[in-house]
Amino acid sequence: MHRPITGRLVIATHNKGKLAEMRDLLARHGVEAVSASELNLPEPEETGTTFAANARLKAEAAARASGMPAFADDSGLAVDALDAAPGIYSARWAGETKDFRHAMEKVEAGLRERDCFKPEQRKAHFVSVLAVAWPDGHLEEFEGRVDGTLVWPPRGEKGFGYDPMFLPDGFDLTFGEMTADQKHGLPPQGQGLSHRARAFLKLAEACLARQK
Ligand code: IMP
Repeated sequence: MHRPITGRLVIATHNKGKLAEMRDLLARHGVEAVSASELNLPEPEETGTTFAANARLKAEAAARASGMPAFADDSGLAVDALDAAPGIYSARWAGETKDFRHAMEKVEAGLRERDCFKPEQRKAHFVSVLAVAWPDGHLEEFEGRVDGTLVWPPRGEKGFGYDPMFLPDGFDLTFGEMTADQKHGLPPQGQGLSHRARAFLKLAEACLARQK
């Protein structure tokens, strides 16, 4: 049985962008979001070997420390020809300076080394796992995925991370060329295209009250 999320929820992220996005999405369902940084909660090390394990450990640590239900997410890019790399290391491939041009060049170098120049050899997907943990140990977990092809050179200045090289299946624009609404707008206005939007829609369906 899914457990409904009501009242207040801790968002276990220290990333202001993600917090603002989640706060907005949850407010529409009558849930108030408090951030882990506002509560001075420590940030656990992401020692898991899967997106789900990392999302879970962040949510569980925040629920334990705050005594409230807590939400966390983990996401990244998985490239078929690179055996699903960078995967959980997606952020780390950009190094300490968070240089995603460098991270995208690393992906491209890997594809070239393997002679992957045709679109069908350059398939990849973004994954997002959302986890909600309660202090009594109950856990809810939802995964969203969007499939696409990697292009080179990167296209577009919008979005973040690997967006400029990711062309979602069925579209002519990369995530870097799409507006935020095109990339992760939710129905009825948007189409819930991104991995995070898809995971959030599953979470909303299972655990949140219908939007008023
Ligand atoms: P985390 O989920 O904050 O651990 O970071 C995931 C990393 O995956 C980000 O730093 C990005 O590099 C990459 N990533 C996740 N989602 C997206 C996306 O929607 N567009 C581009 N890159 C993404």
